[in-house]
Amino acid sequence: MKNLDNDLTKKSFIYEEFAFEILTSIECTGCTGKKEISEDMLSLPLPMSGIPEPLSLMKCLDAFFKTQSTMQTCKTCQTKTQTTFKKRISKLPNIGIFQLQRMTPFLDKNQSLVEYPEINLVLNGFSMDHSSYNLSAVCNHVGSSTKNGHYFTFAKSWVDQKWYSFNDQTILPLKNQEVISSEGYILFYEKQIKT
Ligand SMILES: [Zn+2]
Repeated sequence: MKNLDNDLTKKSFIYEEFAFEILTSIECTGCTGKKEISEDMLSLPLPMSGIPEPLSLMKCLDAFFKTQSTMQTCKTCQTKTQTTFKKRISKLPNIGIFQLQRMTPFLDKNQSLVEYPEINLVLNGFSMDHSSYNLSAVCNHVGSSTKNGHYFTFAKSWVDQKWYSFNDQTILPLKNQEVISSEGYILFYEKQIKT
């Protein structure tokens, strides 16, 4: 197994807190030769295109972890065959960051609503770890393309456990249902400590 990390990233607080350890299993369908590659990802880029509406975080996660296949020459059997790539999470972070891929390669923006849970997100379809996550912040993007727009944040206070909108110099309280909107772009989830 090849680990793409170097020692520096392993020691970093940022990687300790935020990195998903993703294990990709690569298999040649000709000789069934397998290898695994491990990589740390500080956020998961979740696809939105090609997914039937209504969109949800779980559907986008399913698309990210869907087995991919491509034709390539296998180093073991030296033939050009179908090779499959299957990803799973081998280590969950304390803070999980998901970036919805709203921005397309053509610089426009997918403005569909993606439903995401405020509490009890469990990634058990993609990991052996069944820890539960609660939403703690959302980075929003308002605007119709990557060339213009505005970013602002919703975050849950540690003091009163209520949601607030932080938009330039304005801080306003929010109702829980306002936290989930079609402007949600980067989602921050905090692992819940088991009691
Ligand atoms: Zn092969």
